[in-house]
Amino acid sequence: MPVINTRLSYVGKDLLPEENVAIHIDESNLIQSIESSNINSTLVAVPGFFNAHIHTADIGLRGKIGTDLSSVVGPGGVKQRYLESLDEQALIENISSSIEEANRNAVLGFVDFREGGLAGLELLTGLSSSYYPYIRPTLDDIENITFPVAIGIRDVIAYDTEIMVSLAKKVHQVGGRLEIHASEDVMLRKRWIKEYGMSDIQWSIRNLQPHAIIHGTHLNETDVNMMQETDTALVLCPSSNRYFRVGDVNIDLLRNSGITIGLGSDNAMVNPVALWAEISLLQERDISNENILRYATISGAATAGIEWGISDGNSNLLVYDLGATSEDEILDIILSPQSQQFLKAIIQPNPH
Ligand SMILES: [Zn+2]
Repeated sequence: MPVINTRLSYVGKDLLPEENVAIHIDESNLIQSIESSNINSTLVAVPGFFNAHIHTADIGLRGKIGTDLSSVVGPGGVKQRYLESLDEQALIENISSSIEEANRNAVLGFVDFREGGLAGLELLTGLSSSYYPYIRPTLDDIENITFPVAIGIRDVIAYDTEIMVSLAKKVHQVGGRLEIHASEDVMLRKRWIKEYGMSDIQWSIRNLQPHAIIHGTHLNETDVNMMQETDTALVLCPSSNRYFRVGDVNIDLLRNSGITIGLGSDNAMVNPVALWAEISLLQERDISNENILRYATISGAATAGIEWGISDGNSNLLVYDLGATSEDEILDIILSPQSQQFLKAIIQPNPH
């Protein structure tokens, strides 16, 4: 049974930095125990990065699209036409190259919003231990939701409201997961406030009870309070927001909110399947490295209901050799792409 002796490990749900820790790994690559160590080491262990929101299948459009949100990702837009042109093999190739890109960038888990309906879900299941697909059901699919599937809804106008409410009810009945993009597009948010007297975030929470809101770029205090009260998570996509020039989230409202926050790189056609850009944009907004590490790892995984972190029974950790780097500088390095040169081991669960 391998043992990783570390100088410093960020342990458990609280990411407590503990010195001189031995991590015992079993034959399935799961953590069997975490003990104190008296062996001198220069290794540092952190949970793997978790990218909480990606659309992988559009990776083939990278470098080939503009920055206007609705003409690129809206109904009938460039992206939809491209996805419709992909056959099964091309789709799997795109998803696989996204998984490789993720792993090359220390992202050991990610949520992929799949736009192709329930068809092909079995192809995706078990593709990689890193990969968690969220499906966008077709109207016909809705009847076939009889198992705990994870659903990702485009936005509050993706279906008729009655259909969407019954879809959400079904997903909750079967014990599935539900996430929805909301308040990315300020015009849609304004329209909802005008029509329903509440934002698309508030409407979604009331009517769909999603586990997580994606983007929330234009959220206000009422939205934040409601998310807090209902334990609804939030996935921030700062570099995507930057690319499509839709605005920046008011980070001050979130700072001490207690909301479970994750980071997502969003469309693979726009951003690499990594978290470096998200991390550096949050560093610019004066978020502490400790909080960024949380958002980029265990808290991000928690937005999708996934247990993550250096704890018994878990896996997915990164081990760096940082020599005698002072403790103050360790997270600066780990949270930057330069950390890749110090990466000594990646521990992921063995494929079943
Ligand atoms: Zn998205």
